[in-house]
Amino acid sequence: MTSMFAQELDQPAPIAQAPLTWRETARPAPAAGQLEIHVVACGVCRSNLHMIEGDWVDGGVPAISPIIPGHEVTGYVSALGEGVTDFQVGDPVGVQPLWSSCETCEFCTSGRENLCHDRKITGEHVNGGYAEYMIATAAHTYPVPASLDLVESAPLFCPGITAFAAVDKLTVGPGDTVAIFGLGGVGHMAVQFAALTGARVIAVGRTPEHLEVARELGAADTVDSRDPEALAAIADSADAVITFAPADVVTEQAFGVLKWGGTLVNGVPLTLAEFPFNKAQTIQASVIGTREQMREVLELAAAGKIRTVVDSFEMARATEVLSSLADGALRSRAVLANPGVTA
Ligand SMILES: [Zn+2]
Ligand SMILES: [Zn+2]
Repeated sequence: MTSMFAQELDQPAPIAQAPLTWRETARPAPAAGQLEIHVVACGVCRSNLHMIEGDWVDGGVPAISPIIPGHEVTGYVSALGEGVTDFQVGDPVGVQPLWSSCETCEFCTSGRENLCHDRKITGEHVNGGYAEYMIATAAHTYPVPASLDLVESAPLFCPGITAFAAVDKLTVGPGDTVAIFGLGGVGHMAVQFAALTGARVIAVGRTPEHLEVARELGAADTVDSRDPEALAAIADSADAVITFAPADVVTEQAFGVLKWGGTLVNGVPLTLAEFPFNKAQTIQASVIGTREQMREVLELAAAGKIRTVVDSFEMARATEVLSSLADGALRSRAVLANPGVTA
């Protein structure tokens, strides 16, 4: 049996207890319809931290033990399973959180496979990208345009698709105002997609560095959410708001900024004490995105219309990077990379 190195989680536990172990483990061969990816990079997502620390055990995640986390993965195809003809060994590819879907349900057959009830999530139900190699389904693997760097592209596969799908829920354009609340990796992508619609973008966050990056990425205005006067100045001014910060106080701020008749898109859980009808507002939840949307994200990146902001670390340092994420000490999206991987 061949082997590889991977970050494996046996039992969820607080990251301070270092529950991940970088160790030698089995390297399975791709089954029919699957391919193996020699991983170049895997983005570090807050949801990885949630799973590792055991926040989602009640929801059945992780579904296997041990499990290899990671769901924004890029690399080169290194082996093909039976029947896979769309890819060749050496192709640059990526995988998003949606690892597989049933392909037969009403959602899968109407281009909404992200809602498939039998969907499998990369690194939560099956092994993910914190490893030297990963198995993917060919049906949910995407060619990465040759002009894109594979380390910088990794976050396109979770923050990118998540932000794109959230903005895609809106019908906004020139003359409209969109406010983005929560400026981590996803928020920074959403600022760019919202700006591409021609709408005026207001970025709202509490970290000065994040506000600065948002301005560089096309936000017309930035508002420090810790400043009540600044928030009051944009009250009732946005045709649409998008929230990526899972806090009730942020939801409340977002509704304060949303115009009557406007739409709030939430890419995070939301709790509402009340939802008055007299403002005729709309709430739309958004979860990851479809294959079609993922391909659009890659096209926009290849055309230079959007970009990621990343810091790269060696794969073996995952625990240290996740601890920094838990402490709020990361400046931008962290990416774990395997040095020296080539086609
Ligand atoms: Zn993610
Ligand atoms: Zn399905």
